[in-house]
Amino acid sequence: MHYKRILLKLSGEALMGEQQYGIDAKRLDEYAEEIQGVIEKGVEVAIVIGGGNIFRGLAGASQGMDRVQGDHMGMLATVINGLALQSALELKGVQTRLQSAIKINEVAEPFIRRRAIRHLEKGRVVIFGGGTGNPYFTTDSAAVLRAIEIKADVILKGTRVDGIYTSDPEKDKNATKFDSISFNEVLSKGLKVMDTTAFTLSQENELPIVVFDMNTRGNLMKIVSGENIGTVVNV
Ligand code: UDP
Repeated sequence: MHYKRILLKLSGEALMGEQQYGIDAKRLDEYAEEIQGVIEKGVEVAIVIGGGNIFRGLAGASQGMDRVQGDHMGMLATVINGLALQSALELKGVQTRLQSAIKINEVAEPFIRRRAIRHLEKGRVVIFGGGTGNPYFTTDSAAVLRAIEIKADVILKGTRVDGIYTSDPEKDKNATKFDSISFNEVLSKGLKVMDTTAFTLSQENELPIVVFDMNTRGNLMKIVSGENIGTVVNV
């Protein structure tokens, strides 16, 4: 396998599948199957999951809610998604641990870096819930932070588009895809990969990011095997 230890970032919205809100059981099952495939190849898999399918702090703030309060709701949403993903993986016989950045001990282990690494070494999927545990951050930042902490080889950002394009491919039919691109080029071209905080953290720590389409079956395995079907962001 091309990568030994990966940090897979899944957005909350991806879990909605065809729905407008919440968790689509079919989509969840498909993701679990993809993850099971790479675990069986001996790849160590950590996952950070978003919460946008349930709640975003900014959405609350735009309706007058205190931002921090909204972000707390968003963080809890990521724990809900983490539990759902854990359940889907366990139904397939994949061993998992959910670690939360906010203390919720009856539901999930607290985030303990050394313990997370040990779980990975034992072949368990580690799901990191609760984002970074702080308001004003995103789960992309959590993904980069955790990836650096556990010394992952790469962040795999699963999206509904198959990579980074010169412009938004859903709006511009002349948009072309990059096979690879440097961190500096992403910044100078004003392309959007992750929010600035997350992106800069990745750049400073020379942690490569692969953007790929997670909704096509077999893609996760292809990426992990070294096939370049997405866009690699590197130094
Ligand atoms: N959030 C937060 N701190 C974090 C990560 C997430 O406060 O470290 C909150 C924030 O309100 C965010 C919500 O959780 O809007 C859901 O996360 P995100 O928007 O990153 O999810 P995604 O877009 O990946 O579904």
